[in-house]
Amino acid sequence: MAQLSDDCFAFGGPMMSVDEAVDLIATRVTPVLDVEKVALVQADGRILAHDVLAPLPLPPFTNSAVDGYAVSSRDLPQKDEQTFAVSGRVQAGSTASASLKPGHAVRIFTGAPMPDGTDTVFMQEDVRVDGGKVVLPAGLKPGANVRPAGEDIPLGVAALQAGQRLRPQDVALAAAFGLTGLEVVRRLRVAVFSTGNELASPGEARAAAQLFDSNRFMLMAMLARIGCEISDLGIIRDDRAALARALQNVAAAHDLILTTGGVSTGEEDHVKASVESVGRLVLWRMAIKPGRPVAMGIIGGTPFVGLPGNPVASFVTFVHVVRPTVFALSGARPEPLTPMPVRAAFAYKKKISRREYVRVTLRKGADGALEAEKFPREGAGLLSSLTETDGLIELGEDVTQVSPGQMVGFLSYAALIN
Ligand code: AMP
Ligand code: MG
Repeated sequence: MAQLSDDCFAFGGPMMSVDEAVDLIATRVTPVLDVEKVALVQADGRILAHDVLAPLPLPPFTNSAVDGYAVSSRDLPQKDEQTFAVSGRVQAGSTASASLKPGHAVRIFTGAPMPDGTDTVFMQEDVRVDGGKVVLPAGLKPGANVRPAGEDIPLGVAALQAGQRLRPQDVALAAAFGLTGLEVVRRLRVAVFSTGNELASPGEARAAAQLFDSNRFMLMAMLARIGCEISDLGIIRDDRAALARALQNVAAAHDLILTTGGVSTGEEDHVKASVESVGRLVLWRMAIKPGRPVAMGIIGGTPFVGLPGNPVASFVTFVHVVRPTVFALSGARPEPLTPMPVRAAFAYKKKISRREYVRVTLRKGADGALEAEKFPREGAGLLSSLTETDGLIELGEDVTQVSPGQMVGFLSYAALIN
């Protein structure tokens, strides 16, 4: 399990910016270093543990990029087309039986190794076949239509790097090297629970003053997308001793404890006191909307994150606090979120010095350019504001207003929660 020092999340200022939170996590969290080998079919989404040095060049041998006729560049027609005798035929997967005779051409197909003595290929569409001979035009450059060995990946380079989150194309590269598996960081074990007397689990009876717990399922789904193994601890009542017991019970067997609800400073917000009774806690007042406070702590060396209870605040703070914490614990390279420029189709006013996220739907404007339309209501408790939109517009700390037509930065849900 990760072993962090008690004061690693301490923060001096009154308000923490999103960038300060991300930096603090990246610098204070030490990675879990356990490694396991997985088969290629299981490697997508996992964090690579070591660099992979190309064990062979790609392509492994020089080959033809087209169907056509291979010649030596010494014989290339200079001014006028020229007739060549065709001797030999080499298809993909086989090797030419003899080397090239001077002044001859070899019939060749895409992916076939270049016969000895040849270095240039005429596309079959560009030639005329005349009996057993072929008429080749003038003007082709030496080396045309050939894929040299190693042009894609030279032998020995670090083609995949430790800390990268593997994508299907990375898995393809490992397969192209002939590898059957990859060494990856083991999955993080994350314990998740919700707190609140007002919550009932789906499947349970719901009292009149209760609502079904939705955050826990959102958070577990988000954690699963970034490769975590989850222990679902259900709902813990607003009771300090019960919370403290739950935290203490799970700390040793998990790499991270994640909760939602109860982190404000109200009389019935017991998370702070319960974490303090079994470990260390700091409350981050983050300059982010939707957001409110986020609790960070350490229980027996295991990091703890307490997210707010409002679903939208929980979603947004997950992205900026939990996601970087999971990546840091996994030894993954940080994945900064890069907003894409789109045109605002809304007006908006905001306070200076805090980051705001506006829930929007994308549509095509009259001129075909992408426009972001704001969800009509603002509440941080509205689940429909997440289910009926495509992503978030990020408004930086120094922005105070947005006018229709202005360019703004869009973060798609696909990017935020992958
Ligand atoms: P809290 O952060 O505990 O003060 O909760 C803030 C608001 O979020 C309250 O209206 C809660 O009912 C709601 N809430 C808290 N936890 C959850 C949850 N797990 N699922 C859905 N709503 C929640
Ligand atoms: Mg509560």
